[in-house]
Amino acid sequence: ASQFFKQVELSFDKAAQNTNISPDILELIKQNNAIVHFNFPIKKDDGSIEVIEAWRAQHSHHRTPCKGGIRFAPIANEDEVKALAALMSYKCALVDVPFGGGKGAVRIDPKKYSESELERIVRRLTFELHNKNFIGPGIDVPAPDYGSGQKEMAWIADTYKSLTSDLNAAGCVTGKPVTQGGIRGRTEATGLGAAFALRELFATESLLKHYNLTSGLEGKTVSLQGFGNVGYHSVKFLSEMGCKIVAVSEYEGMVTSSDGIDVEALQSYRNENRSIEGFPGCDFVKDNQAVFGLEVDIFIPAALEAQITKDNWQVVKAKVIAEAANGPVTYEASERLFEKGVLIMPDIYLNAGGVTVSYFEWIKNLAHIRFGRMEKRYDQRNFSKMVDLVSHVVDKKQLEGMAIGGDEVDLVHSGLEETMAKGLEDIHKVVADSGYKVDLRTAAFQVAIEKIALSYVENGIFP
Ligand code: NAD
Repeated sequence: ASQFFKQVELSFDKAAQNTNISPDILELIKQNNAIVHFNFPIKKDDGSIEVIEAWRAQHSHHRTPCKGGIRFAPIANEDEVKALAALMSYKCALVDVPFGGGKGAVRIDPKKYSESELERIVRRLTFELHNKNFIGPGIDVPAPDYGSGQKEMAWIADTYKSLTSDLNAAGCVTGKPVTQGGIRGRTEATGLGAAFALRELFATESLLKHYNLTSGLEGKTVSLQGFGNVGYHSVKFLSEMGCKIVAVSEYEGMVTSSDGIDVEALQSYRNENRSIEGFPGCDFVKDNQAVFGLEVDIFIPAALEAQITKDNWQVVKAKVIAEAANGPVTYEASERLFEKGVLIMPDIYLNAGGVTVSYFEWIKNLAHIRFGRMEKRYDQRNFSKMVDLVSHVVDKKQLEGMAIGGDEVDLVHSGLEETMAKGLEDIHKVVADSGYKVDLRTAAFQVAIEKIALSYVENGIFP
């Protein structure tokens, strides 16, 4: 096991020292509340039976439902699921999304299954989660993560609906296709949120000064690890904001171009060829680890955890590491890089855009509002309702301005932008108050821990 949960605990403990929360409450926040580990059979296309292993963790119940993605990966394990669920608790608290943290995993390589096999896996998974009371719009709400996407979320929603007469059933999962109760803007939310966060960082002069960074995204060079949902959208929006994407690494290797990579063209090329190798106009190297040592302004790890560790942090030459993935830089590597003057945008902040927009989707499902482009007048009324619903996390005035003629995706993007800006402001405040002695990860954890502790006190829940 990778000791990923331990890594999260180390960050937690470091930040907790800067709070005046009592040790018992800290212990309560830190522990993983519940986890189920189960195996279920599915029939393969050739008639044989395979046993599939899965987990769902609910790290914190200080708010319900729990919220967090479902990962489909051959290396999935219990420690990882617990760690990812814990990160979700802190992430949600940090950006004021009122959920507890959760996470699920299915230990398979989805690429090795046919579409109908995958469908059987996901439907049976949903059935199992329902049986165990580990899914439901008020209990625990999954979302896409590594190896899963809209298609899987649609199967989950459909299966859950068939098992219950719950009027709110559509809110049992987020990241659904728009035609199945999803919300416009969810697919790109995590990557766009990351881009908004970086734009915000490069506009925060006082913070930049302490890390010897120049302001503005224009011309900043970017390298990326993992050209999946989060990675692709991060560099797509960053290049629209003026960055130059100089390297993209995937399983099979890395493409580089000092002139900047056309992100859309690379995406089409990869869809057609199932590989980035041979992409015209770029150099290709087989060694996908080479991405860590590139001299760039911003390095975005957007694949998996534990990529930069105590063993390889020395090779890093990026000025900023933007943790689009969860846990890509281990605790110790993070400490060393901070000493070296590298600015790390921590995962619990940088990739919070996904859960933020999932929250909008969940509200939309519970409010039973359809945001289709239907009649203009009807749309307008719904839009105003939506503005009311999300106004505690986003600036109402700005949203009201948009209500005239705006549509769902504008509202979602604007809510996301506000959330990311507010998140950095909260983190920066802690960093600045410490005289810039505290790193951004520790500050982000501190903000999150304080908010969770406050929610326990507010709720007065202790028997
Ligand atoms: P994804 O499956 O869409 O993409 C991951 C990509 O990384 C794949 O293309 C895969 O081939 C590639 N990859 C794997 N190992 C690699 C390696 N060693 N080198 C280079 N590329 C590699 O998954 P995703 O949804 O984009 O998630 C990526 C990360 O972002 C995960 O850590 C996930 O937990 C995190 N995250 C996702 C979301 C979301 O909304 N999907 C939200 C928050 C955080």
